[in-house]
Amino acid sequence: MKKILVANRGEIALRIMRSVKEMGIQTVAIYSEADRHSPHVIYADEAVCMGPPPSKASYLLGDKIIKTCLKLGVDGIHPGFGFLSENAEFTRKVTEAGIIFIGPSPESMEVMGSKLAAKAAVAKYDTPMVPGTAKAIDDIGEAIEVAKGIGFPILIKASAGGGGKGMRIVEKAEDFEEQMQLAVNEAVSAFGDGAVFIEKYIASPRHIEIQILADQHGNILHLLERECSIQRRHQKVIEEAPAVIMTEKLRESMGQAAINVARSCNYHGAGTVEFLMDENQKYYFLEMNTRLQVEHPITEMITGIDIVKEQIKVARGEKLSFTQADIKPNGHSIELRIYAEDPQNNFLPDIGNLQTYRPPIGNGIRVDDGFREGMDIPIYYDPMIAKLAVHADTREAALQKMKQAIRDYKIVGVKNTLDFGHWVMNHPAFIAGDIDTHFIKKYFTPECLDKELEEEEAFVAATLAVQFLEKNKVKFDNATSSSSDSVSSTWHKNRVRR
Ligand code: ADP
Repeated sequence: MKKILVANRGEIALRIMRSVKEMGIQTVAIYSEADRHSPHVIYADEAVCMGPPPSKASYLLGDKIIKTCLKLGVDGIHPGFGFLSENAEFTRKVTEAGIIFIGPSPESMEVMGSKLAAKAAVAKYDTPMVPGTAKAIDDIGEAIEVAKGIGFPILIKASAGGGGKGMRIVEKAEDFEEQMQLAVNEAVSAFGDGAVFIEKYIASPRHIEIQILADQHGNILHLLERECSIQRRHQKVIEEAPAVIMTEKLRESMGQAAINVARSCNYHGAGTVEFLMDENQKYYFLEMNTRLQVEHPITEMITGIDIVKEQIKVARGEKLSFTQADIKPNGHSIELRIYAEDPQNNFLPDIGNLQTYRPPIGNGIRVDDGFREGMDIPIYYDPMIAKLAVHADTREAALQKMKQAIRDYKIVGVKNTLDFGHWVMNHPAFIAGDIDTHFIKKYFTPECLDKELEEEEAFVAATLAVQFLEKNKVKFDNATSSSSDSVSSTWHKNRVRR
């Protein structure tokens, strides 16, 4: 491949292009009118405007993207995540046009894109699955009987669901029919497919997923696990690798289960097999995501493997250059998704102008972002501003590094999840690794952040006081009022950082 078009925007487009350029391959960006001045557009060797801001009029115009590729002599398309990344029809058209799609085959996508088809495919490998119905519900009476057999509460799920949407908890049999109708309506309007099924509602699960890498020669490896239990609206905000509860034995078992899932759909490329784990460390297959995952940086940090480069190598037909035995976790990594959201108002998306935007830098700190100071956060797309990932020798050191990186991150103008992330890092249950997917619901209230900020201010004040005393040790007796003024003004600057 000599030229790759990245069919995406923002931080992930930039992150992909970095690896593409490192491999000596030319890059092409696409953009909407809202993203004309975005860093991913400036960074690319060539950039083409697709149309007006709404995704449907720009980033989702598959045919236009393919035409652009043919015009510019592009020989590979990287879809990133979201947008067209899991669209089998687009993948087929790309291949038919003689362009390499950097991702799995459309057939693998189709199997794993339907939660029911995925369950059917993995069943032959004895993969542990959440108890429930194996096919779409077409008879309510029968479904209620199944639900009673499983035991309430149960979950009604859309087979085509994604992004945490299309799930309904049903507490008792009397509510079943009504909830089922709502679930079907929701599934039709969100995904164009009304198929729903039942799953046992696992009371306090952890979300643990395995990163998969497979070549086109039948070699499938896993790149260890990620724990993604800190979620709001069934969607991840904080991830870490390795998982605190992981043992060698469990990792081997889950790793093999994930490899089997990939094998069940003849997978090639990078993918993620998601599991829920109950309090007895029993794990259940949830679904497979057939694309690069938002949280892939933490896996890269603990394995030293550039997953995007591996995707490209696999797409051009190369064999994986390492074996399972080569993959060992090195240290600990944590990622915080910095969303333009207001944690004090139900994590509602926020928009606005990044009046101040200064990401932290330092050893073991990685910021994948797609914005610069002064830019607006557009309303048209996912509200993620950046991903902040840290890596250190131990989990404790990674927690400390994350807290300092958050303190050093300056964002003014848009509500965001930085303070929330700091609060999580300080929470005794998180520090102890005693977490599940209800962590936010269980522990977080808007007041938590007010308290957090007060403690932060006290911390900053104490640090500045120590610095001040140290600097002025010699002339301590003569410390002037102008020096203390400068301390208070620095403190003030820190207070208004978010
Ligand atoms: P999506 O495809 O929308 O992301 P998933 O099936 O991957 O949906 O589930 C997303 C999240 O929803 C999980 O991480 C978990 O928090 C919750 N969830 C899904 N299924 C169950 C279940 N059976 N019991 C409890 N929680 C669940």
